[in-house]
Amino acid sequence: MKIDLHVHSQYSKDALSKPESIIKEVQKKGLSGIAITDHNTVECWPKLLPLAKKAGVLVVKGEELKVKEHGKTIGELSALFMQEDIKSFELPEILDAAKRQDALLIIQHPFDLFRKRWKRMDYWNKFQGIEVFNSRCVLNSWNKKAMKFAREHEFSATAGSDAHVPQEIGNAFIEFEGESEEELRKAILKRKVVIAGKLSSPLIHVFSTIAKLHLIGPI
Ligand SMILES: [Zn+2]
Repeated sequence: MKIDLHVHSQYSKDALSKPESIIKEVQKKGLSGIAITDHNTVECWPKLLPLAKKAGVLVVKGEELKVKEHGKTIGELSALFMQEDIKSFELPEILDAAKRQDALLIIQHPFDLFRKRWKRMDYWNKFQGIEVFNSRCVLNSWNKKAMKFAREHEFSATAGSDAHVPQEIGNAFIEFEGESEEELRKAILKRKVVIAGKLSSPLIHVFSTIAKLHLIGPI
């Protein structure tokens, strides 16, 4: 199965994809599913999940979380295989909440110099994996560095398009042998996934700006 593990919907302030368009695009691209990872919200879940079920598309419940320590932002994580929203921004509470619901915490685009990064690498072993391919990285060398790091330190690896508009969905994905969400989770943890992806055009970033400025509605 091919799963894009990093997708945003219109419920992220900088994204435009409607739940219906996400499902349509997943089918068009021949993917088996996605992880929905909006910025600090799970508002899309109740809209997307019934549509996905009807269409036979696997949707992993996730969220992209801003992480703070004593009120100061120290990085971003994506939580995958969640059961409920994680409302806190503070790291110890995020770790607790993730553990309680058996969610995996993944460091996204860890070496992307244009985005918020984890400066303290000694924290990384608190998390279950790192995203080794993100299609929105401007330079592929940042992905390569993440891939090398994951290999050398035996981290579980994920990949995702970080799609903010439907067309970007599927630009990166992981492939694994299995059919269920549980098998996907195991494959990630056992590092039995194949990483595939291409970079999105830098022009795609323009859409996020347009979304933030509310110049056009969801597509
Ligand atoms: Zn993202």
